[in-house]
Amino acid sequence: AAAGNSPAMKQVKLDKESELRIEVNVNSSLRLRLLSGTAEIFGTEMPPENWLIFPPRMKFAIFTWYGATIEMQDNTETDYVADETPMISYVNVHAVLEGRRKRAKASAGDADASQGPRVIVVGPTDSGKSTLSRMLLSWAAKQGWKPTFVDLDIGQGSITLPGCIAATPIEMPIDPVEGIPLEMPLVYFFGHNTPTVNADLYRVLVKELAQILERQFSVNAESRAAGMVINTMGFIDGLGYDLLLHAIDTFQATVVLVLGQDKLCSMLKDALKQKQNVDVVKLQKSGGVVSRNSKFRAIARNQRIREYFYGLSNDLSPHSSIANFSDLAIYRIGGGPQAPASALPIGAQPVADPMRLVPVNINRDLLNLVLAVSFAKEQDQILSSNIAGFIWITDIDIPRKKITYLAPSAGELPSKFLLMGSLTWIET
Ligand code: ATP
Repeated sequence: AAAGNSPAMKQVKLDKESELRIEVNVNSSLRLRLLSGTAEIFGTEMPPENWLIFPPRMKFAIFTWYGATIEMQDNTETDYVADETPMISYVNVHAVLEGRRKRAKASAGDADASQGPRVIVVGPTDSGKSTLSRMLLSWAAKQGWKPTFVDLDIGQGSITLPGCIAATPIEMPIDPVEGIPLEMPLVYFFGHNTPTVNADLYRVLVKELAQILERQFSVNAESRAAGMVINTMGFIDGLGYDLLLHAIDTFQATVVLVLGQDKLCSMLKDALKQKQNVDVVKLQKSGGVVSRNSKFRAIARNQRIREYFYGLSNDLSPHSSIANFSDLAIYRIGGGPQAPASALPIGAQPVADPMRLVPVNINRDLLNLVLAVSFAKEQDQILSSNIAGFIWITDIDIPRKKITYLAPSAGELPSKFLLMGSLTWIET
C-alpha cells in the first residue's frame, strides 16, 4: 500500500488492439508505467517499467497492438478502456506513406520522384488532427526517417506559442510527456489565435514558410524523401476552407487526410479532382478525442506560454532584462489607425493595408504582451523574416523610458525588431 496520502495504485490489463484513455486530474499529475507487454502513446513506444509522470489536464491514450498491463495511480479525472479504435486504418496510412518514402529515396536525383509524401491533416476542431499528425511522425521517425512537421494551427499549435505557424524536423518519436522539442524550429509570427484578424497576412506567412522548406528540401535529399506532415486549424468553413485550399496548394500536398467530416471530404475531392497526384482520404475520427471548450483552450494557450518561459516542470529560469525605449523598435502588421474618412478625398474609402508595417508607440498598453523577436536585420526584412523567440513585457516605466521584459535566457536580443499581435500572458 502507498505511504501517506498518495493515491492508491491499480493495474489495468489491455487486450490486443485496445486502448486506455486517460484524462489527468485538473489539480494533480499522474504516475504510471508499463508493467508488461508493449504499448504506445500516440505512436511512441512506452519504455518498459519506467515511471512516467503526466501533468494535470493532459488527455491521452495508451494503445497496445499485442496486449499490455499498465500500473497507474488511481487519481485520474477519467480513465477507461476502449476496444474500438481507428488505429488499424491509421497505421495502414503509415504503411502507404512508408512505401512512398522508400520510392522517393530510391529516386534520388530525379526532382519529382525524389519527393516523399506531403501529407496534410484536415478536419473540424477536436477531430484528432494533432494526434494523428503526431502518430504519423513518430511512426516514421521510429523507422529512421526525419519527416518535417509543419503546424499551421495558430490556435493550439504544438511546436511553439499560439499565434505562430512553424516547422521542425522530427528526428525521434515524439516524447509522450514533453511533446515536440523546442530546439530551433522555423517559426513565423502571426500574432493572433484566429486567422480572421488578418487572413492576407496568414497566407503570406504560410507562403514564406513553404518557400523556406522548399529550399531546404532542394539541398537535403534525406528530409525531402521523408516528406512532411502538415497539421491545420479546425476552422473549416468559409475563410477556413479557403485557407485549407491555400495550404494544400502552397505546400503542394500529395495526400489529404480528412478526419471525421464527410462534407469536407467531398468538397475537397471535388475541388482537387483536377490534380492527379493528390489523394484525398477519409479517415474515421477516434472516439477517444476529447472536446475542449473555449475555456480549456484558453487555459491551454496560457499554459503553452508559461512552458516557453519556465519549462514544463519549472525547470527553466527565464531572465528579466531592462532596455531603453530607444533600443527597441516594435511593430504591428496590418490594420491600425486608418486615416479618418474626413482626411480622404471625397468618395474614397479608408482601406487598411493588411501588410503594412505599423510602428507601435511604447506605452502602458504594452504591459503583459508577448512580443516576437524578429530575425530581421533591417526594417524592410521584417515581413518576410522568421522569428528567434519571444519576450514578455513585465513593466513599462514612462518617465525613465525603460521597458522590463522576461526572456528565456540572459544576453542581448538577436534583433531590436519586435513584433506585436494580440498575444498576452498573465502569470498565474
Ligand atoms: P484542434 O483542431 O481543435 O486543435 P485536433 O483536431 O487537433 O484539435 P487533438 O488535439 O488531436 O484534436 O485531440 C484533442 C484532444 O483529445 C487532445 O487533448 C488529445 O490528446 C486527446 N485525444 C486524442 N485522441 C485521443 C484518444 N484516443 N484517447 C484519449 N484522448 C485523445
